[in-house]
Amino acid sequence: MARKAVTVVANCSDCGTVRLASSKCALLHCRETDEYTIAYPCPDCGRRSAVPCSRAGVIEFFALGVQINAWNMPEELRDPIRSTGGREARDAMLDMITDDSWLAELDRL
Ligand SMILES: [Zn+2]
Repeated sequence: MARKAVTVVANCSDCGTVRLASSKCALLHCRETDEYTIAYPCPDCGRRSAVPCSRAGVIEFFALGVQINAWNMPEELRDPIRSTGGREARDAMLDMITDDSWLAELDRL
């Protein structure tokens, strides 16, 4: 199966639902929490977002050829303000994974 760019349905906090190529996404693995995050730039405004990624999501992205980058958590990520935003981001990621059009794209590969 040839690898090609797949359109990912993501969420920008400024633009709402956006679509971008999977090749624009980066898969990040935090060594401290053993959690995975998908980071991507908004195709409309360029704002970078990062959302937690489930194990199933990691497998999907890895299968698309997205590389996993390990990193260590900077202190500022422990800021409680960030954890509030995290819940919304997690919901957005769940929407991304369960988005049927995105799964349909996968099926067409
Ligand atoms: Zn945007």
